[in-house]
Amino acid sequence: MKNVFGGIEAGGTKFVCVIANGPEEILFEERFPTTTPTETIQKSISFFEKHIKEDHLNLLSLGIGTFGPIDLHPTSGTYGIITSTPKPGWAYADIVKPFQKAFHIPIAFDTDVNAAAIGEGVWGVAQGLENFLYFTIGTGVGGGAIINGKPLHGLVHPEMGHIRLSQNTLIDAYPGKCPFHGTCFEGLTAGPAIEDRWGKAAFLLSQDHPAWDLEADYIAQAMSNFICTLSPQKIILGGGVMQQIHLFPLIRKKTLTYLNGYVQSASMLENIDNFIVPPGLGNQAGMLGAIAMAKNLVE
Ligand code: ADP
Ligand code: ZN
Repeated sequence: MKNVFGGIEAGGTKFVCVIANGPEEILFEERFPTTTPTETIQKSISFFEKHIKEDHLNLLSLGIGTFGPIDLHPTSGTYGIITSTPKPGWAYADIVKPFQKAFHIPIAFDTDVNAAAIGEGVWGVAQGLENFLYFTIGTGVGGGAIINGKPLHGLVHPEMGHIRLSQNTLIDAYPGKCPFHGTCFEGLTAGPAIEDRWGKAAFLLSQDHPAWDLEADYIAQAMSNFICTLSPQKIILGGGVMQQIHLFPLIRKKTLTYLNGYVQSASMLENIDNFIVPPGLGNQAGMLGAIAMAKNLVE
């Protein structure tokens, strides 16, 4: 029997299940669309059961990084559930318990973005850092924070995609896409907001389209806010929208402009190209982060 770890990246659009020991040893991986909680969780359980049996695996522990909001406080009565999501059918869905029942192994549970941050800390571009942030800018915007070496939870967990930004309505009068806040960070910058504002899918907009300068401006406002509040040593930007890698130089420049020389750190000011960066693990940050969380439980 081979010892292995399980990981689940539970997204609002798709679930990724993986059996691995690290980036160099990904044994099995399966993705399927997120449908109802019952069906999606059962598919995930079946994936692990099948490989445990057929491939003679000893699943030591499981890590789950999920969309939210979630309850991740172990002493709470609702630990392990998704809470107030507007995603149909998923409000108050119990994610952890069905896996506990099926496998009787230790389970780590965190937000998808904290999981991705953990993955980048263990195997990606944030190795050796104690304080850093991971953002996804995709269907929504979410941020995970590693602070003093640990994922930040706090009251519930950070919702860094929902901070308020300053909108110059003379240039951009778009009312915003967030169902809760209109023009918050997510409401202004997520993929669906870009598409809605410009009437064209984000990936179809040419590099010289005015959408990108505006996008970089809002992201830079958010970055300067988080640099001032959390003092990260690095910020990682992932997600579908950040496939537009020409955004990186724009965001870096505008972030420094917004900070206006106030935050004095050579590792940011003189090395901004290594300070605001794409994920080292690419689109595997979340699933590998889930594996790292699982490993942390037993090693
Ligand atoms: P999810 O957020 O569901 O995990 P993604 O991170 O891939 O998935 O985000 C999907 C969003 O990102 C969509 O709104 C899509 O329009 C946008 N997107 C995906 N690929 C690109 C691209 N190459 N350029 C710009 N936007 C993109
Ligand atoms: Zn919002």
